[in-house]
Amino acid sequence: MKLLLLEPNNAREDPFAQCWFTADKKRFTAPLLALPVIAALTPNDYEVEIRDEKIEAINFNEPCNLVAMSYKTKDALRTYQYAEEFRKRGIPVILGGMHASLLPEEAAQYANAVVVGEAEGIWPEVIRDFETGRLRKIYLAPKLVPLEAAPIPRFDLLKNGCYCVHSIQTSRGCLVGCEFCPVQEMFQGKTRHKPVGRVLEEIEAVQRIDRKKDIFFIDEMFAGGNRSYQKELLKELRRHRINFYCISDFKVMDPRYIWDLARSGCKKISINMPGTCLPQELKAVRAIQKLGIDVWGYFMLGFSFHDVSVFDKIEEFVAKSGMKNVTLTVMTPFANTLMARKISERNGILTTDWNLYDQCHVVFQPERMSVEDLKSGFLGLWKDLEDFLRIRDSQMKDDRRERSMRRMAGVVSLGIEKAFDLLTGKKDQPVDLEAIIGKKKAEVSVTIDNVMERKRKVA
Ligand code: SF4
Repeated sequence: MKLLLLEPNNAREDPFAQCWFTADKKRFTAPLLALPVIAALTPNDYEVEIRDEKIEAINFNEPCNLVAMSYKTKDALRTYQYAEEFRKRGIPVILGGMHASLLPEEAAQYANAVVVGEAEGIWPEVIRDFETGRLRKIYLAPKLVPLEAAPIPRFDLLKNGCYCVHSIQTSRGCLVGCEFCPVQEMFQGKTRHKPVGRVLEEIEAVQRIDRKKDIFFIDEMFAGGNRSYQKELLKELRRHRINFYCISDFKVMDPRYIWDLARSGCKKISINMPGTCLPQELKAVRAIQKLGIDVWGYFMLGFSFHDVSVFDKIEEFVAKSGMKNVTLTVMTPFANTLMARKISERNGILTTDWNLYDQCHVVFQPERMSVEDLKSGFLGLWKDLEDFLRIRDSQMKDDRRERSMRRMAGVVSLGIEKAFDLLTGKKDQPVDLEAIIGKKKAEVSVTIDNVMERKRKVA
């Protein structure tokens, strides 16, 4: 039996799909773990393949006996189209993931079965029913599983060479409680943690695949989460000497905690920034950067407290903060979330075309500005930040290059000077270094000037 696990994604063709502003314009790709977890839950006698459309095209003619897809709202329509393609070829399709869990009845129109909730609680039953030809339309995962019972994801099935980092999850859920967030619905506003020993096992598993790559803890809220758990985990991470990235909000403002993060190998934090752009937030960003942690600002636009002044505020904040990477999104009221219900009550939902729920289109009526203001403000800010980060990055590169040339020049000049003094014994006399260095002249011309200058001073 062959099971094909797919993650549909329009990121390869839609410029809006990811508004990541890295100064070098490289797309940051990290694997999601839903499919590797399902693969780990699948009986051993199955051949399992994972296809992530972020990095490779989907082939509907790939031979298989069963297809399962996990998808987000922005890819829902694409997923339903793919499901029809496979079913036309006689292959049963199972749908799951965030959007399917929020709207199972919708998903059920396009699939043989829909899994609602976490796969751990229900996947073995789905597979048994598939084998006996008795798939039901909807499978409700009975409850949130304790994470010690979750299997180690099949990292080996990912095309690891195509991702920037290894992804590892230490917890699920988030206590922040943002009203638009589907995580709140999915995990019932609770958080659960994997035992630290299990996290270390997973780190060892990904390091067996590629030791050089950094680790991205893709928890909804890693830094600033449960502190006693974090204390134990960070201690172990420090011992294992890994470099990692993580996600947080401004709870990371506690200096002692930032210090612990930095010592444990944290190199990058993506921080959810509400667009308040307060002086203490700027201070926190700088404090984090000072400890060698790169801050990746994640800004969302369109909250009820945002008016048109928010765009300039964010631009100024980014400029002052020295952040090298920024992600910009538009607040999106995902189906069945508290925010969607509230906006719906005031008739503010403008469309349910899921293709537009990519956090880059405006799909609701904002409270303190017009739809047009939010659209044009978002696009204008996007363009400005992209230009700004690109220009600043090239300036920084020039500055770095100049500094390193100066450093090199200094080191080489001292070396040459010493060597010359030793060779000639003419310690303080002006010398024709260019003649001695000969063909290396061009490479070290700055050096020679420096040496001659110093020689002149000595003389
Ligand atoms: S902080 Fe992030 S994960 Fe947590 S509720 Fe808000 S949006 Fe969701």
